[in-house]
Amino acid sequence: MKTAEIMANLAAKHPGENEYLQAVQEVLESIEEVYNQHPEFEKAKIVERMVEPDRIFTFRVTWVDDKGEVQTNLGYRIQFNSAIGPYKGGLRFHKAVVPSMLKFLGFEQTFKNALTTLPMGGAKGGSDFDPVGKSNDEIMRFCQAFMTELWQCIGPDQDIPAGDVGVGGREIGFLYGMYKKLAREYNTGVLTGKGATWGGSILRPEATGFGALYFTQHLLHKAGKDIAGKRVALSGFGNVAWGAATKAKQLGAKVVAISGPDGVCEIPDGITDEMIAYMLDMRASNRNKVEDMATKFPEKAKFTAGKKAWSVPCDIALPCAFQNELSEDDAKELQKNGCWCCCEVSNMGCQPGAIHYFQNNGILFAPGKAVNAGGVATSGLEMTQNASHISWSAKEVDDKLHFIMESIHEQCVKYGTQPDGHVDYVKGANIAGFMKVATAMLEQGII
Ligand code: GLU
Repeated sequence: MKTAEIMANLAAKHPGENEYLQAVQEVLESIEEVYNQHPEFEKAKIVERMVEPDRIFTFRVTWVDDKGEVQTNLGYRIQFNSAIGPYKGGLRFHKAVVPSMLKFLGFEQTFKNALTTLPMGGAKGGSDFDPVGKSNDEIMRFCQAFMTELWQCIGPDQDIPAGDVGVGGREIGFLYGMYKKLAREYNTGVLTGKGATWGGSILRPEATGFGALYFTQHLLHKAGKDIAGKRVALSGFGNVAWGAATKAKQLGAKVVAISGPDGVCEIPDGITDEMIAYMLDMRASNRNKVEDMATKFPEKAKFTAGKKAWSVPCDIALPCAFQNELSEDDAKELQKNGCWCCCEVSNMGCQPGAIHYFQNNGILFAPGKAVNAGGVATSGLEMTQNASHISWSAKEVDDKLHFIMESIHEQCVKYGTQPDGHVDYVKGANIAGFMKVATAMLEQGII
């Protein structure tokens, strides 16, 4: 495979789209060896086709804010790859959303979805709408305006959006309400992450965080360790961090840090159930300030402005916030403070320098596309429930999520075990996902 040539080509076609190029580069580096053993992939130009999205929709979203002023945002849906199933992936509402971000996320999603064992292709969408400081009514009006364009591009057998950063159960509710009105059909399978009383799967809100902790447990067991009693530092305080904190505590770990764009809250005695519940209020407030936790629980949490979760001594680091949130310097600081394991829960949460540092310094590391796949996997389970007009119990969903995370871990071990016996989880996840998508593309011909 001519990685340098493919990358140069891609950079010329997508100038300045650094996150996208970073995500592709990481995958190509991992799969090069395997790819070269399959001349049929080269002949069908699998990689050259796989790195380009199938199609991109861009649209204007105009809405009126609480002051009566007209606001215009940009909306996108990127349908990346449908080799193994209909397009599937979340919507991100964040002021920094640009096509590069959504292309990287859609590309990653394709491999992640392949790992889940479920038939789902890859997609991503969103808007540069900034939810910070917006009222509930503003969120609703924006979601409704966004859906008046998006609805034409999606469908239960075509493309199924869900949540991501800035999009949770509330936003999915507003989006679905408008979809239903426009399509004149009660077709719940068109979105996942819905409310539990109208087609949502039990445990979907918790699934990304729960799945991440199940994966972490498997990784630790393989390394002869256990999570009980360990100190966990996690970044963010949104839906994913909430699920991760809940399960980490249930498994006997001590969550000693959460963070936000404003700084870090250190929690020396470990997070309590009350504090975990408060994380939900913090998200719903749209203030985007982790300091609120220390204001509410001054005896338990100490806020430091401008610091990251990675400055707090811990055993296990769980980035749960945003891409590239953990740099090589952060990786060094973590190690200095006693950290020996990092499971990336956010999509591409660690910069390449941080990943290399972890891998070269004996720190256990697993990438987001394996660790966080429990979220989209449970979306897949929600689709199955919707298609068969039933809803499963919490136990049924949790058992299936457990099974899926175990199977993802097994795939990483199968494809990532190195000659010296250690597991390269980055390679393992990339190769396992790639083989599945590439084989399907090959079998479906040149399209
Ligand atoms: N946004 C989540 C992810 O990155 C979930 C996507 C979904 O449920 O479709 O995987």
